[in-house]
Amino acid sequence: MHRGNFQQLLLRHIRHEIGETSIRLSQKLVAFRSVSDHVEVDFVNPSTGDQNTELAKVLVGADGINSTVRKILYPDEGRPLWSGVTIWRGVTQTDKLLLDGRSLIVMGDPNDVQLVMGHVSKNVINWTCLVRVEDPNMQISPAAPDWNNLGHIEDLLPLMSNMKLNFVDIHHIIQSSMIINKFPMTDRNTLPRWTHDRVTLLGDAAHPMYPYGGNGASQAILDARGLILSFRQHGVTLQGLQAYDDLRRPASNIVVLASRQYSCDEILKVVHERAPDGFEHLSDVISSAELEAIMSNSKRVAGLHAEQLNQEPPLF
Ligand SMILES: Cc1cc2nc3c(=O)[nH]c(=O)nc-3n(C[C@H](O)[C@H](O)[C@H](O)COP(=O)(O)OP(=O)(O)OC[C@H]3O[C@@H](n4cnc5c(N)ncnc54)[C@H](O)[C@@H]3O)c2cc1C
Repeated sequence: MHRGNFQQLLLRHIRHEIGETSIRLSQKLVAFRSVSDHVEVDFVNPSTGDQNTELAKVLVGADGINSTVRKILYPDEGRPLWSGVTIWRGVTQTDKLLLDGRSLIVMGDPNDVQLVMGHVSKNVINWTCLVRVEDPNMQISPAAPDWNNLGHIEDLLPLMSNMKLNFVDIHHIIQSSMIINKFPMTDRNTLPRWTHDRVTLLGDAAHPMYPYGGNGASQAILDARGLILSFRQHGVTLQGLQAYDDLRRPASNIVVLASRQYSCDEILKVVHERAPDGFEHLSDVISSAELEAIMSNSKRVAGLHAEQLNQEPPLF
């Protein structure tokens, strides 16, 4: 499912469950401070410049990789750390299914150019091309990551000249994109704590990670689940916020560090090392038992193994 459609579905559901006024748009958080047993939060409407202040029991900063809440908690942290990889991303409308419409094509070399392509809905293909452009030890991102930054097809296509498959015209799919975005692949170092008094972090604000393995949003969902369980056990209290931090921070830190080691895209790395010039059948390069073992390990690291998840207490 396209994430935009999923977000609209969640929006409708939340408005239905907790009321029309539960979500307020165009409210940019700019500051907060603890005031006795509350936290006072300042917002600005970016279009009108109108300002307002709200009082809350707790504040959960789920404001993404460029989080303002995190910046206020950790003012000296600086910009996200760049991996040396540039991400190109696009969506292409199509009337033809790519393979069976449910498969993901993952190809290339994680140390050079890597392509991931698959359907997000019947008529839409989502593709991501990761291009290593600089010394991976470089620490400073060329720009703060902005998912809406535009890229140009004429800059990307030459980098992908070796990317060919005999059953799909990759270049045609890329060239037919409705829009192309380009941004640096970044993450941040893990934090010693997320919860400070009545304020905590969640999702990319807490643990931005490389998209290898596609874990960022899943970890944010596990955070939300952990927060609900902690509040249920301890109430919406300082203790509840601390229990959430103790539960989720160590688990997501492991995924941040594993993503740096490509461990979630281990299959691509192994296949490229064994068959740098390509192959006819994947089974000639890697056995299904090896594939299963790698997949199982990456699910375990991310806490997404079906058996692990089924052992968790239900939310509702
Ligand atoms: C190329 C790429 C591919 C990915 N693929 C996958 C995948 O396959 N699977 C997966 O699980 N994850 C994937 N991810 C990661 C995923 O997109 C993120 O981890 C996820 O969106 C994080 O959710 P979030 O709610 O924490 O932050 P975001 O989705 O970034 O949302 C933050 C929100 O906060 C708002 N905001 C920001 N500042 C303020 C402020 N001051 N005041 C008020 N609001 C503010 C923003 O407008 C935004 O709406 C991918 C990421 C990238 C870059």
